[in-house]
Amino acid sequence: MFRIPFLDIPPLHGASGRVVLPGSKSISNRVLLLAGLCAGETRVHDLLDSDDTAVMLQALRTLGCGVRQDGRVWCIQGLGGTLAVHEAALFLGNAGTAMRPLAAALAVLSTQQGGRFDLSGVPRMHERPIGDLVDALRPLGCQIEDLGQPGYPPLRISGMPGGQLQLDAPIRVRGDVSSQFLTALLLALPLAAAQRDVTIDVVGELISKPYIDITLNLLARFGVVVQRRGYEQFVIPRGSRYGTPGDIHVEGDASSASYFIALGAIAAQGGAPVHVQGVGSDSIQGDIRFIDAARAMGADIRSGPNWLEVHRGQWPLRAITLDANAIPDAAMTLAVMALYADGPTRITHIASWRVKETDRIAAMACELRKLGATVTEGADFIEVTPPQRWHHASIHTYDDHRMAMCLSLAAFNPIAPQPGQATVRIQDPACVGKTFPDYFETLFDVAGADTAEVPVIAVDGPSASGKGTLASELAKALGYHLLDSGALYRAAALAAQADGVSLDDGAGVARVSRLLDLRFDGDKVFLRGQDVSDTLRNEVTGRMASQVSVHPAVREALHGLQLSFRRVPGLVADGRDMGTVVFPDAALKVFLVASAEQRAQRRHKQLISKGFSASISALRADLEARDERDKNRASAPLKPAEDALLLDNSNLGIDESVQQVLQWWAQRRPF
Ligand code: C5P
Repeated sequence: MFRIPFLDIPPLHGASGRVVLPGSKSISNRVLLLAGLCAGETRVHDLLDSDDTAVMLQALRTLGCGVRQDGRVWCIQGLGGTLAVHEAALFLGNAGTAMRPLAAALAVLSTQQGGRFDLSGVPRMHERPIGDLVDALRPLGCQIEDLGQPGYPPLRISGMPGGQLQLDAPIRVRGDVSSQFLTALLLALPLAAAQRDVTIDVVGELISKPYIDITLNLLARFGVVVQRRGYEQFVIPRGSRYGTPGDIHVEGDASSASYFIALGAIAAQGGAPVHVQGVGSDSIQGDIRFIDAARAMGADIRSGPNWLEVHRGQWPLRAITLDANAIPDAAMTLAVMALYADGPTRITHIASWRVKETDRIAAMACELRKLGATVTEGADFIEVTPPQRWHHASIHTYDDHRMAMCLSLAAFNPIAPQPGQATVRIQDPACVGKTFPDYFETLFDVAGADTAEVPVIAVDGPSASGKGTLASELAKALGYHLLDSGALYRAAALAAQADGVSLDDGAGVARVSRLLDLRFDGDKVFLRGQDVSDTLRNEVTGRMASQVSVHPAVREALHGLQLSFRRVPGLVADGRDMGTVVFPDAALKVFLVASAEQRAQRRHKQLISKGFSASISALRADLEARDERDKNRASAPLKPAEDALLLDNSNLGIDESVQQVLQWWAQRRPF
């Protein structure tokens, strides 16, 4: 799958609007596992659609659970505590929320029922500890082999049918490295509690307690009520049995909310807030406590049952010192809010950052320094002092979704107390897919920029020169928006024809053009609600477009619509006058040339492949006629802008053309 190598975010100035959060990762994967273990069908609503949940769904399928989608609802037919498959290899990506609980559940089940399961993941997964969980399970009689480095995945879990779990002594698990080990045991051991109480003792101070609360809350939803003494001892009562709640809704992700709470605190000025839909003050997720930390830094937050509303409060933000043990994931966002504070912000008690998707303390320190911040790091703390001078920074993201989302907030540096003008490059932005695949689209929907600072690449040239393909490939490679301005002239001509307006009537076509109801949806184009994608691209429509495009009034009528495509993070615009008239300040202007013969041959090939018959000489004559009309019209004639770079692609394949333009683009970037 193609992943764009980087995303450049121009300097951003403000934010307001409504954001709908994706489902919580922690809740989603716990619910999926519980649904897979219990008897009957569970209908899961608002499940997070992400890499980590995809991994869990696939694991459930492999284990023989029924998994199907009914519209937006996932229907899981559970195993009812009995293994359907006794041998499998499960690949769990980098999903700790799948690896740990599945390891525990499969250990418990295969010890009792027999089986052999290999659990592995991406290389980083094999560096994330699991030894404390394995150490807790082995005394129960579970056979767990380290297939790589001891104490880390991959693991082989096996057992013989009819085996017994040793449950006389309390199960001891360390709680000071990751709370996921305790969660894994709590999710797995109800499978062994039919005949007896099962007791778990936590050794050492339990970290990330709120995640245990989520686990207990969801266990209760599936019929298992765990008794606890503080966070030191947990008892699963004898006779516990999983039962499906039927329908269950997944809350919005409170950790994901942190980016938009921070956004409001940093950038929601002038009365219009950032409204966050999906979690509210009554959330069961511990990371909702991030709102207290954000308030301490100055955010003005109002909340209701399923929503939050954030305004900028104190500005600059207030520097704080905070024990963030209870909100380890969301606390990363504080480290970036610290860039906008009135002094050094210190986040303590975060040793768990070092064993997450990456060593987050080291990663955060390194990337914040690139921006100009002064950072001190220790074994379990980080201290961030805002930049005196901001630097353009190309941010490495370590395949860590939270690094990408957090650091994107540095793009608001123009409104920092010590303002900057820095472009923030996020490397491998698709890593946000772990929990929030649409993160950047969501951010850019509510973030404001100065239009002049939103970069445009203009690609102009004659008909059939390959502009369309080049522009669309460039937009894809850079994560930019795309404007196919020819499509606007084509649509205007179609609309005029449908309304019985003569194509020679400039004022008439302009009137129609001003009210053009046109919508682009992926590869499809809808005019007045009708799919016109095919009609729009045919030769006759092209000729009609070239006829209406000579009228200055029509060009004027379509001008504003074209400008409106210039949105964060950037635009690739193709046409005839992108670099000369519509975006004269484009950061890069490319003028494509190719001989009429070449272009006619390409168009011919295209038409034949679509099953149309065509003659090369007729096509060539038609192209030349169109070139003449486009070049010689009085208004915005086709010609290269003075500062355009000419690209003769007569003998270049599309990949070569794209590479050439990307190379030119790289020379104009600050990195
Ligand atoms: O690029 P495409 O072939 O879709 O454009 C159709 C016609 O629209 C062109 O022949 C040209 O006359 C007109 N056009 C224009 N200015 C643009 C884009 C297209 O005049 N920016």
